[in-house]
Amino acid sequence: MACVALGANLGDAPRTVANALRQLGHLPHTELLSASGLYRTAPWQAHGPDFINAVALVSTRLTAPALLEALLHQEAQAGRERPYPNAPRTLDLDLLLYGSGRIASPRLTVPHPRIWERAFVVVPLAEVAPERVPPQALLAVSGQHIERIQT
Ligand code: ADP
Ligand code: MG
Repeated sequence: MACVALGANLGDAPRTVANALRQLGHLPHTELLSASGLYRTAPWQAHGPDFINAVALVSTRLTAPALLEALLHQEAQAGRERPYPNAPRTLDLDLLLYGSGRIASPRLTVPHPRIWERAFVVVPLAEVAPERVPPQALLAVSGQHIERIQT
């Protein structure tokens, strides 16, 4: 079981995120188990329009590095460019959790190092994997404004 965070704030972000959720289920050896609703948040240490975020739970036989490669490829297909750090993006796919795995390589850190800082990750993660989100984690981000826009 792996958790993937999706985010977009360029183009038709709700549509991009909804499509990307579906496409996760079409990655090789991967099944989409559940998807959170879509959430809207103001940019966090970033620029541009509001973000649309969601979290997906997948079951996969890909290794964590292979899953990351597949996610980066899917981002590229959605037109992702990286002109500078935290630039507005058509699609961002982050690997939050890979089972109980811990990875610290130059290209991949799991659990994702910034999971617990951001409501737009914690709140949708609590929807699809409540057992992975301690109550104090939700409390810690309760001051951040986040709006659920779709089930
Ligand atoms: P961010 O998601 O922080 O806005 P990027 O999407 O540009 O930044 O990702 C930059 C790099 O972060 C990726 O090329 C990837 O190698 C690395 N990375 C490390 N750990 C992870 C992870 N858990 N999920 C996604 N990317 C990761
Ligand atoms: Mg990313």
